[in-house]
Amino acid sequence: MAETSDSIDTPTPRRKPKPAIEEIAGRKLKPATLMMGHGFDPALSEGSLKPPIFQTSTFAFENAAAGKRHFEGITGKRPGGAEGLVYSRFNGPNQEILEDRLGVWDGAEDALAFSSGMTAICVMMLALCSAGDVIVHSGPLYAASEGFVAKWLSKYGVTYVDFPAGATREELDAVLEQAKAQAEQQGGKVALVYLESPGNPTNALVDIEAVSASRDAVLGEDGPPIAIDNTFLGPLWQRPLEHGADVVVYSLTKYVGGHSDLVAGSIAGAKKWIDPVRALRNTMGGICDPNTAWMLMRSLETVELRMQRAGENAAKVCEFLGDHPKVEGLGYLGMISDARQQDIYNRHCLGAGSTFSVFIKGGEEESFRFLDSLKIAKLAVSLGGTETLASHPAAMTHLSVPRERRAQLGITDNLVRISIGIEDADDLIADFDQALAAV
Ligand SMILES: *Cc1c(COP(=O)(O)O)cnc(C)c1O
Repeated sequence: MAETSDSIDTPTPRRKPKPAIEEIAGRKLKPATLMMGHGFDPALSEGSLKPPIFQTSTFAFENAAAGKRHFEGITGKRPGGAEGLVYSRFNGPNQEILEDRLGVWDGAEDALAFSSGMTAICVMMLALCSAGDVIVHSGPLYAASEGFVAKWLSKYGVTYVDFPAGATREELDAVLEQAKAQAEQQGGKVALVYLESPGNPTNALVDIEAVSASRDAVLGEDGPPIAIDNTFLGPLWQRPLEHGADVVVYSLTKYVGGHSDLVAGSIAGAKKWIDPVRALRNTMGGICDPNTAWMLMRSLETVELRMQRAGENAAKVCEFLGDHPKVEGLGYLGMISDARQQDIYNRHCLGAGSTFSVFIKGGEEESFRFLDSLKIAKLAVSLGGTETLASHPAAMTHLSVPRERRAQLGITDNLVRISIGIEDADDLIADFDQALAAV
């Protein structure tokens, strides 16, 4: 009893978090190891091995002067940002740990978590662009990203120039020259080079190294940042910051979340590019909630295992589909037929992924019959979950894209998009086999 009253009378000194362990004997620890504890010290949360969910809208200041210092950081009156937690529209413990761990995967200095992939993309573009500026982007983009640039940013005087995913260095130079002239005419600058690679649903790859060299040559090394949507191959199979990109963008809803049970997004890169985006996120909101951040931390513990298994399954399924008489062809990164695309793949990718397109012999009717006959694979949009999904882009995700543009992008009526999960590969093959028999 005396001990109890003692501990009440004597306030325990505020504990400091233990320094993070990122290497042992000169060996830099791998992301798979760091995901189990990086950025979290159980001693700060009653010894809880896992971070609790901090379900709070605001944080108590130690004293009034500390509150003032925090706000000086938040409002930019003092460089360096907030030194502690202030209010949950700005940040929270779960989101901070998540952001630290997301940064680890891409080798990024800083990262931000958002309530969806599209929130991440929209807030980033708004933060980096002013009226008169030009965005240069690869095509095709995720439909909502393309729509945000064309339909919404144009309302604020931001224009764009786009180029096909496979563009060569010469073509990229010409596109950037055009964008530069367009910006000068509008009294602005080229504010952002925005890429998506591989493109959805065709898996067309962008040469990030060529884009980076072209940016440096045409716009100078202090030119605009290169951001890339790495949702299809990241964080395992493509590491864009190592190939000249400045910011990596994710829909965490897909492979990173990986269980088709949450919606979230992120960006990661150098502080220089992340800071203005954080300032706008502080103003607008759009940070992911603590529960979603907690679920994402759980997902990150298994992301490597899940993606490896899904990738192995996809390779086996594609080997089966590639030889099938009712299949016309495959859009799978493990079986590229174009030499230029293969060269980009060899330089940029560490794996072929598990999302690909199958061209069924016939048209919409045959493709629908195949989809309706599947017994294991679920008929749904989205990708990167533990379960196998199948969809028909021309009739679903890309229905709003005009027919000619669809044809240009190779989105035909016999294209079925598949995202392979972590089921048993032979079970999946049996399912595709019986569904093709029904075509
Ligand atoms: C799903 C997706 C998005 C949008 O992400 P949300 O989390 O749905 O907002 C952006 N880019 C790509 C490549 C996607 O697949």
